[in-house]
Amino acid sequence: MTSKIAGRLPVVNPVDSFWNAEPKKLDDYRSTAELPSTADIVIIGSGFSGVATTYFLLKDNPNPPSIVLLDARKICNGATGRNGGHIKPDTYSDIPKFAKMFGIEAATHIAAFETSNIYAVKDLIEKEGLDCDFHMTRALDVFLDPKQANGVEKAYREIVRAGIVNVSDMSFTPKKDAERISGVKNAQACISYTAGHLWPSKLVHQLLQKLVDQGLNVQAHTPVTSVSANGNGSWSIRTSRGTIQASKVVHTTNAYASHILPEYTKSITPLRGVCAHLESVNGKKTPHLVNTYGIRFDEINNDYLIPRADGSIIVGGARPPFWHNKKRYFDNIQDNELVDEATPYFDNYMQRTFRGWENSEMKTKKVWTGILGYSFDFMPHIGEVPDKPGQFIMAGFTGYGMPKILLSSKALATMVLDGVPFEETGLPSPFKTTKQRNESKENPLEDCLGDLWTGKAKL
Ligand SMILES: Cc1cc2nc3c(=O)[nH]c(=O)nc-3n(C[C@H](O)[C@H](O)[C@H](O)COP(=O)(O)OP(=O)(O)OC[C@H]3O[C@@H](n4cnc5c(N)ncnc54)[C@H](O)[C@@H]3O)c2cc1C
Repeated sequence: MTSKIAGRLPVVNPVDSFWNAEPKKLDDYRSTAELPSTADIVIIGSGFSGVATTYFLLKDNPNPPSIVLLDARKICNGATGRNGGHIKPDTYSDIPKFAKMFGIEAATHIAAFETSNIYAVKDLIEKEGLDCDFHMTRALDVFLDPKQANGVEKAYREIVRAGIVNVSDMSFTPKKDAERISGVKNAQACISYTAGHLWPSKLVHQLLQKLVDQGLNVQAHTPVTSVSANGNGSWSIRTSRGTIQASKVVHTTNAYASHILPEYTKSITPLRGVCAHLESVNGKKTPHLVNTYGIRFDEINNDYLIPRADGSIIVGGARPPFWHNKKRYFDNIQDNELVDEATPYFDNYMQRTFRGWENSEMKTKKVWTGILGYSFDFMPHIGEVPDKPGQFIMAGFTGYGMPKILLSSKALATMVLDGVPFEETGLPSPFKTTKQRNESKENPLEDCLGDLWTGKAKL
C-alpha cells in the first residue's frame, strides 16, 4: 500500500519497534475509501507533532475546520513510533552551548520550555484519560569522562553563582558519590532533574482515536509527493492516491520535511538512530532502577536508558560502533534495516554499565532503527514556511522532540487558526523557521561531527 522509495519519502516496510510490534486499531486506518477532494487544512505526518497539532486545532473549537491528516506509512510509524519514550529535557548539558549560540535569555527560555512540556504532557494524559504507561521520574545525566565531568561541574557552579537559570529542580553530585548515587560504574559526576517516560505510540494512537471519533479524516499509507500553489491562495496537495485542495497545509514530517519543501534540504537532515529493548531471561529478578538515564561517555557519545515498570529496559544511542562512519546514519532514511555493527553493543549492556547487575542475565530482546530530523543549528523549525503563506512547518527536533512537541503544537495551532505571529506564541525565539536559517552558510551540526568523520575526534 505504500509508495516506492524516492528522495526523502519514508521507506517502505520499516523494521518493527518494540512499541509498534503489536498491531493497533488505527495502524492502517483510512476514514474514507477515497481521499476528500478539499479540506480547510491538510496535516502531513501522524507522529506526535501532527496529531498534537490537530488536537489543538479542533479542541474547544466551536467552528472546527475540516482537516485531513495524511501519513505515508502506518499511523505513528516515524520517529515517534520508534523512539525511546523518554521525555527528558536536556536542560543542563545544553544550556552553555545554546547560550553561546543564541544568548543566555533564549537558552534559559528553552530550558524552562522543555521542563514545562513534561507537565503539559502529564496534564494532557490525565485530562484525556490516555493509558500510555506514563511515569514521572528523575533523569540522571551521568558523565564518565573525567575531563567532561570537570567542565560540567564548573559550568554548573557558574550557572548557580550567576543565578541565570532556575536550578531548583536540579541536583549535582560530584565524583565522590556519583557512582553510588547513579549506580553507573566509574561515574565521574551526575546531575538529576525531573523527567518522564511513556509508550509514545499509545499516546498518539489514543489521542488520534478521540479525533477520529469527532470526525477527523485520517488517511494512512498516503505519501504526499508535492504541494503546489493554485494561484488563488490555496494549495494542491498531491499524493499517491489523488490531490486535495486546501487553503492551509501543516508539514509535521520531521526528518522528511525537505522532500516536499526542498528549501529545508540543508537545514533538516535525516539521521538514523538505534534503540533496543532488554529483558532479563526467564523472568529472573533484577535490581530496580528508579531513575531514567543519559549516560555520557564523552562530548559526542551518549546513550539514554529508560527502566520500564515491568522490569525491562529501553536503551538508545549505541553511537561508538558506527558514528565515525557518516553514511551509516547521516542523511540516511533506511529504517527498513538494522545497523548490524551496532546490534551487539546492547549485549551485556546492563551487566557492564551498572553496579549490581553483573549477574542479571539481561538480554537484548529487540533492536530497531528510526529516523530523526537533525536541524543544522539544533533548533526545530516552527512557523509559517518562508514565502509560502498558508503553509506551516514544525520539524527538525534533532535528538529529542518529546519535551518540546506538545506546547510547540499548541502554539502552532494558534498560528494556523488565528494567524497569531510567531513572536506572540511564547515559543523560544530560536525555534522560528526563517529563510535566513535555511540559507545560512554556517553548519554547527557538521562542525560538531566533522572531526568524528575524519578520525580527528578523540573518542
Ligand atoms: C531511534 C530514536 C530514538 C529516539 N529517542 C527519543 C527519546 O527517547 N526522547 C525524545 O525526546 N526523542 C527521541 N527521539 C526523537 C523523537 O522521536 C522525535 O523528535 C519526535 O518523535 C518527532 O515527532 P514528529 O511527529 O515531529 O515526527 P515523526 O514521528 O517522525 O512523524 C513524522 C511523520 O510524517 C510522515 N511523513 C513524512 N513524510 C511524509 C510525506 N511526504 N507524506 C506523508 N507522510 C509523511 C512519517 O511517515 C511520519 O509518520 C528518537 C528518535 C529516534 C528515531
